[in-house]
Amino acid sequence: MIVIGGGIGGLSAALALTRKGLKVRLYERASEFGEVGAGLQIAPNCTRILNDYGLLDEATTLGVLPERMIMKDAVDGGELTHLDLKDLERRYGFPYLVIHRSDLHGIFLRACERAGVELVTDAHCVAYENTPGGARVTFADGRSDRAEVVIAADGLHSVARRLLVHDEPVSSAYVAYRGAVPFDQVRANDVHESAVVVYVGPRCHFVQYPLRGGQMFNQVAVFESPKALAGKEDWGTPDELDRAFDGMCPQIKAGLPLMWRDRWWRMYDREPIANWVTGRIALLGDAAHPPLQYMAQGAVMAIEDGWVLAERVGALRTERSEEGSGVDWEAALAAYEAVRPEHCRRVMTTARSWGALWHHDGVKRLQRNALLRARDPHDYSFTDWVYGPTALTPEQEPELYRAIPLESAAVVAEQ
Ligand code: FAD
Repeated sequence: MIVIGGGIGGLSAALALTRKGLKVRLYERASEFGEVGAGLQIAPNCTRILNDYGLLDEATTLGVLPERMIMKDAVDGGELTHLDLKDLERRYGFPYLVIHRSDLHGIFLRACERAGVELVTDAHCVAYENTPGGARVTFADGRSDRAEVVIAADGLHSVARRLLVHDEPVSSAYVAYRGAVPFDQVRANDVHESAVVVYVGPRCHFVQYPLRGGQMFNQVAVFESPKALAGKEDWGTPDELDRAFDGMCPQIKAGLPLMWRDRWWRMYDREPIANWVTGRIALLGDAAHPPLQYMAQGAVMAIEDGWVLAERVGALRTERSEEGSGVDWEAALAAYEAVRPEHCRRVMTTARSWGALWHHDGVKRLQRNALLRARDPHDYSFTDWVYGPTALTPEQEPELYRAIPLESAAVVAEQ
């Protein structure tokens, strides 16, 4: 089979499917495999999968298992609520991990090489088409390839997605600055050595956590761009970064000069879609469900997608024959589409609501703070549906959905 896109989604799917005995060719348009950016938070619903792949020890060695996740007010720096990540690990059976993006990408790349995935670079896919009993991809240089199934893990601007829906990325008018620096550079800045800290503020937030066994420190600064709201082309520039965090607490002021100022990431998502499969072509990862990053589940969902698909393939595979892999692809793709889109829709819409809640100003900010301060840190009703294994096992979902107030965050955010 063919996978298009060598990001975390494509590589992890290629690995998962190869582990089920399939022969996988993966095409990446860049001339080298790699990831740009800094840290990634990987919640227990994904460390569970890393463990299944035998990769959790390597990931833990390269990353950090923080002890707490703390939410603070960006204006006064006061704590609003927290999660005890050790208790979280006991509840869900797997740890909450933070890891450098390139380290996680490298783990999957090496695992794919070991498993025998055929990895092809400089292959820019420009067209997908269904053929009898399979699908074909065509590349910018005129080459083409065909397989029983094509998985399109080609990211936010997916070409394959156009086969299913004529939509465009939705701009949130928010932009992210990132920066990962040696820990020594922040030692004097009143930072937490073993926590993920999120400062939430009016139209902005600021995230901090350690990376690489505590040797590095990752920071993300996110804010609403007035220039984007005014419809200007050159939005999210460094002058806007400085103005957005004017008046915020000293810990943020100390962290801002360490952000990379030569690049920034405009924040887009798309409207959720329920159909990810057309014939023998299936979307996966950001191609299917690019979220705003506020729930830190984008890469996690991509990895879950590959795991779910591979599990169904494993369950629906008979003996390999001369004619093909022996997989009942119609059933496997239908099962994949039965499980994943609804879960990812919830994550995407909750991420939007979560962002609204974080970025309140004035009275709404004070109301939010009062609610969060009153929250029992051991109340897991907001995390069970995400961090539990339910996104992978549809049988449990209806029961769980009854137990948890739907879109609870949205209700709070709209107050
Ligand atoms: P991509 O990473 O976009 O990979 C797509 C790949 O396909 C690329 O390698 C690209 O070159 C290739 N490609 C594209 N088009 C073609 C083509 N036509 N032909 C061939 N190849 C092609 N997620 C988390 O889980 N936790 C976090 O803490 C987190 N934090 C985030 C913070 C920020 C600021 C942002 C912006 C995102 C964050 N995310 C997080 C989301 C996460 O980064 C993405 O959801 C994830 O990387 C998506 O992976 P993907 O493989 O689906 O897509």
